[in-house]
Parts: sequence; C-alpha cells; structure tokens
Amino acid sequence: MSWHDIEGQAFAKQIWQAHLAAGTVANAYLVVGPAGVGKRLLAQELAKALQCVSPEPPPCDRCAPCGQVGRRTHPDVHWLQAEGSSGFIRLEAVREVLGRIALRPFSGRYQAVIVDGAHRLTDEAANSLLKSLEEPPAHARFVLLTEALARCLPTIVSRCQLIRAHPLAPEALERILRANHVDPEAAAAVAHLAGGSAARALELGEDWAGYEQLMALLASEQWTQWFESELPDTRQGVERLLDGMVAWLRDVAAAATGPTTSLVHQRFEAPVRRAASQVAPARCVQTALDLAALRDSLDQFVNPRLAAALARERWLSLMAA
Ligand SMILES: [Zn+2]
Repeated sequence: MSWHDIEGQAFAKQIWQAHLAAGTVANAYLVVGPAGVGKRLLAQELAKALQCVSPEPPPCDRCAPCGQVGRRTHPDVHWLQAEGSSGFIRLEAVREVLGRIALRPFSGRYQAVIVDGAHRLTDEAANSLLKSLEEPPAHARFVLLTEALARCLPTIVSRCQLIRAHPLAPEALERILRANHVDPEAAAAVAHLAGGSAARALELGEDWAGYEQLMALLASEQWTQWFESELPDTRQGVERLLDGMVAWLRDVAAAATGPTTSLVHQRFEAPVRRAASQVAPARCVQTALDLAALRDSLDQFVNPRLAAALARERWLSLMAA
C-alpha cells in the first residue's frame, strides 16, 4: 500500500506530497469526509512518509519503518480510537499519548498522532489536545479524521489544516470490489449503490444475495410478505434494511420524474416504475428522508428491531395510500 494504491483522494495526496517535498508538513491536519472513503489509509500513508528512511520520495513502502507503520507496530505512531462500547475517545487516552509524544521519538524522526474520529473526543479530551495542536513539540505531528465536522469542537477545527476526502467514484469502487473477489456483476451494481463508500460497498458485496432478497421484497406487490419474513434484529442488519429502502425510494422518485432517468436498481426497473406511477413523488421523498433520519438515530435504539418495525410501518403506510 502506498499513495498510488489509494483510490481517489487526489487532492489530499497532492497536498501531502507537496508538503513532504517542501518540508512544510503542518503541525495538525483534519481530514474531513464520509465514512469508508480512505481517510485512515491516507493518515497511515502520511505516517509512513514521516518515518520512511528511503532516499526516494516517501513512503517507499519497503523499508522497516514503513512496514511497522503499516502493521501498526511503529513505536512512534500513536492511534487514538473510540474505546469499547462507549463510542468516545476519553481524556485518559489522550493524556497517555500526549505524555509519550513529549519524549523524543523512540526510533523514528517524528512522533505521529492519528485521532481516528475527532468528533468522538469528549470535551475534556478535546480541550486537553488544544495546546498540543497549536504548539506541538518540534518532533510531533497530528492527523485528525472525522466524518462529522459539525460535531467537532470549533477550537479543534480552527487549529488544524483542513483536508477534504471525497466519496469515491463508482469506477473506483468497482476496482476495489473486484480486487476483493466480489462477483463482477454484483460489483457493477454495488458500485452505484454504496454512496461512494468503499466500506459500505464491500459490506454490500459480501451479502449481495441478501440485498437482492430485500429488493425482491420491496418490489413485491404482496405486502403480506413483510409479515412472513423476519425483521433483522442486529444493528448492521437494520442499517442494511434502511439503506436498501432509501435507495429504492430514490429510484422510485427518480422514475417519477421521467422515463429516461437511469435507475440504480436496473434489474427491478418494472416494479420501480410501477411504484412510481402509484405513489406521489413528494410522499416518496418524505418517506425516504424519514427513513434516513431513522438510520441516523439508530444509535439511540436499545433494540434495533424496533427501528426495523417502524420502518416497515412507514413503508406499508406509503404503499397503502
Ligand atoms: Zn519507507
């Protein structure tokens, strides 16, 4: 893995390559972009480049430090991630890392800190970082990652150089899926369904049969089928159900706007168009928005199955109207 192995993100790669070449790597970067588009890989490659000992433009990906960073065993590269089920990065974890970077690097040139989920820092943890972000020890560099800029403390954001990571193009997702041995036909379809996220594309590709089953259920005019098939009861299963429903409704709304629109669910074109002729587009869009909001609030459901039942109710009331 090296810069050129990361799909997309040309802007981030160019900026960092330029900063490395000019010796102007900033104290702190904040990489902002949706989940699953390669933010961790970008941070890892920058960390490699900071520690690389090859004479060629870094990272070489062959020297010992590059290998250690890739395996996450480099003693001077520190990853801060949310712990366990709390979902937060706590003050104690940040303090421990700040203690370590106050010392000189153990074997590398820099102490690098990667905060994987800047929006997950508790307020105390974020506040304890501020001074280090502004005036880090000369040998320390920070990379913060987030998919939720609005949930990051403004004082953190203002101390970092912002770098945008963008959703991946369908062609890039298709290459990633094929490299991961996903069936080519499924890969072509999934690449258009994953919203630019490689993580989501791989997840969908792994369970393509399950996704097609869900689509068949949404396509069916036999609503009683909803009560014959089990609702998912895991968080991941409910996420997949809600994502599938939203994607399907997007197609229905698109089909309602004209016959020439190309649909994501090509294989289900007939039932999509039938639904488009039966459901008012405004109600269709509203239901999609409600289901998307339900997905975002899934964390708040102790029992995810309840969210699935709510979604089923919304669906049936849309179709019955
Ligand atoms: Zn190297």
